[in-house]
Amino acid sequence: MTEKTLGFSDSITQLGRIGSKRQSAFLKLGAATVGDLLTLYPRSYIDYTSPVLIASAPEDEPCVIRGTVLRKLAPARIRSSMTVFKLIVSDGISEMTVTIYNSKYLFESLYVGEEYLLYGKVTGGGRRRDMSSPLIINALSQDRILPVYPLTEGLTQSVVRGCVKEALQRTGDPSEIIPQEIRQRYGVCACRFALESIHFPKDMRSAQIARERLIFEELYMLSLGMRLLKTRMRERTSYIINDTDINDLEKRLPFSMTGAQKRSITECAKDMQSGVPMNRLLQGDVGSGKTVVAAACAYLAAKSGFQTALMAPTEILAAQHYKTLSELLEPLGIKVSLLTGSMTEKQKSQIRELIESGECAVAIGTHALFQKSVSFRTLGLVITDEQHRFGVNQRAELAQKGRSPHRLVMSATPIPRTLALMIFGDMDISVLDELPKGRLPIKTYGVTGKKRESMFGFVHKELLCGRQCYIVCPMIDESEMQLRSVKKYAHDVAERFKDMRVGLLHGKMPADEKESVMLDFKEHRLDILVSTTVVEVGVDVPNASVMIVENADRFGLSQLHQLRGRVGRGEYQSYCILMTDNMTPDCLKRLETLAHTNDGFKISEEDLKMRGPGEFFGQRQHGLPKLKIASLANDVDVMRSAQQAAEETLRGDRELSDPKHKMLRAAVEELFAKSAEL
Ligand code: ADP
Ligand code: MG
Repeated sequence: MTEKTLGFSDSITQLGRIGSKRQSAFLKLGAATVGDLLTLYPRSYIDYTSPVLIASAPEDEPCVIRGTVLRKLAPARIRSSMTVFKLIVSDGISEMTVTIYNSKYLFESLYVGEEYLLYGKVTGGGRRRDMSSPLIINALSQDRILPVYPLTEGLTQSVVRGCVKEALQRTGDPSEIIPQEIRQRYGVCACRFALESIHFPKDMRSAQIARERLIFEELYMLSLGMRLLKTRMRERTSYIINDTDINDLEKRLPFSMTGAQKRSITECAKDMQSGVPMNRLLQGDVGSGKTVVAAACAYLAAKSGFQTALMAPTEILAAQHYKTLSELLEPLGIKVSLLTGSMTEKQKSQIRELIESGECAVAIGTHALFQKSVSFRTLGLVITDEQHRFGVNQRAELAQKGRSPHRLVMSATPIPRTLALMIFGDMDISVLDELPKGRLPIKTYGVTGKKRESMFGFVHKELLCGRQCYIVCPMIDESEMQLRSVKKYAHDVAERFKDMRVGLLHGKMPADEKESVMLDFKEHRLDILVSTTVVEVGVDVPNASVMIVENADRFGLSQLHQLRGRVGRGEYQSYCILMTDNMTPDCLKRLETLAHTNDGFKISEEDLKMRGPGEFFGQRQHGLPKLKIASLANDVDVMRSAQQAAEETLRGDRELSDPKHKMLRAAVEELFAKSAEL
């Protein structure tokens, strides 16, 4: 009897051994169809192809022994729930004991005189050599390299292997979606080979070739998708600026702009003149002066008669932007308003009216600006600051408030260019790669608790010179206990610095209190600000010259870099002191990276390598389709060629509308549709 051939979109229940229990277990792994099952890629392999002799088995790592069962010992029941089975195995030269716990079934399936391949760690020497709980296959078995899959409750390796194997046998050739010329140029193997060899490779080299293809394919599709999005967003907009002169604004700045700032403003102005909505990412390290670029864009928009919404991730930051922009723009006749969640209903409704009537030209706020009740008269420009804190959906929602408004996204997380192209491939990118003149590089030190007193001595001197200091204490959660310990810490600091004014800032404070503490610090009514990480993003107090981070090991590299970026924003030599008693190599390496470089790009690259993009960007915040095999952190080279390939494919067929790309287009759309569902 021949079984029915399966299609990739058939349910996995069509497979022989999948009942409803296993079906739901597979569903947990994301596999509903046969096609999904085949993209459940192995995490690793057990390679039985190169057995070693028992006598030369490595001490600390698993190896493969090829051996014959000489005899089986009587099972020993050591507890009611534990039976130990032992066998003696010989490789022809020496012997070892094989110990199996509890699995009577496995024990009984092994026969004296038969030869097996055993994978495990050999412990003990001489006559006491032992391999415990090995993975065993018959020496005659065809598959010598076994895939190891991610599992979930209700599945075992052998069940998954069996199902995948059956799926492979019963499906026909998958349709090749990568165009042939691309496959040839980039040396990518055929799709069927890839699928077979990723699961059951005949040698590790084939597994590698398969892997390369699948990674390439995934990144190629991703690049295509991002580029398609970009092309599709080229709708028209009626918001067109007719005047790009920012002289009056420049005159009001207390400094002259950097070349990078000027260039970025020119790039934005060009976008806003074009009749197509601007969709631009402004990348700039902490302190590179992104706010001025935002102000200039809002200024140009207002001069041409349309409104700007500027979104900040925190109230403190919104208030700060409000202060900066209103001081710059109001004297030029441009009305700026602030709208945050913590305002009273009455205040909010007043501001909403100003926004609705169009009297307010620049609205600054937190997520309160997103709310349905806010309607703009002529929203032509949407700026989001520190966008890595925003969900992609929120971004989209605000953009919908206007009819094809221009969008500017500001990010302080410098992302390596290749990766930025991958994640923000639908956007144009401007980079502030130049710090304002006269900035002294921040000096960074790692210090243990023993040195706390001498560090405080140093801080005191700085404060006496008129500077200010931040002390950041991490709160793992927002619990009462943690809060108490931060309060106690602030109290101790106040005791230690009796002649100084010490303030406390934490996330649990009501917003207006937060704001007033922040303002006190900004206007130097406080000398020391003890804070949780609420100061992490964007806060700007140029007179502050010392940043102390307690328990620095609790933070990721990028976050520490952001915290450090709160100082060194003025003309003074600034210091960042990272306190930790955690002397693990990982932690030391992080602190060392920070001490050695102030370059945000290098730091984010390191961070990305250490933590991986998931953690780096926060849970799925980049809004990309979930990758099954490629890694945005590690596959940088493939990423580059995939991007190039995508560009080549789209060169002659910008929207993938050529019939020869029909399948490719469908696959890309499906990939992105899946991610939109999530
Ligand atoms: P970020 O890019 O981190 O948002 P900000 O816009 O907050 O940076 O600017 C950091 C500080 O540098 C602010 O105090 C700002 O006034 C100042 N600044 C911005 N541009 C320049 C410049 N060209 N020259 C001198 N100082 C500048
Ligand atoms: Mg900023």
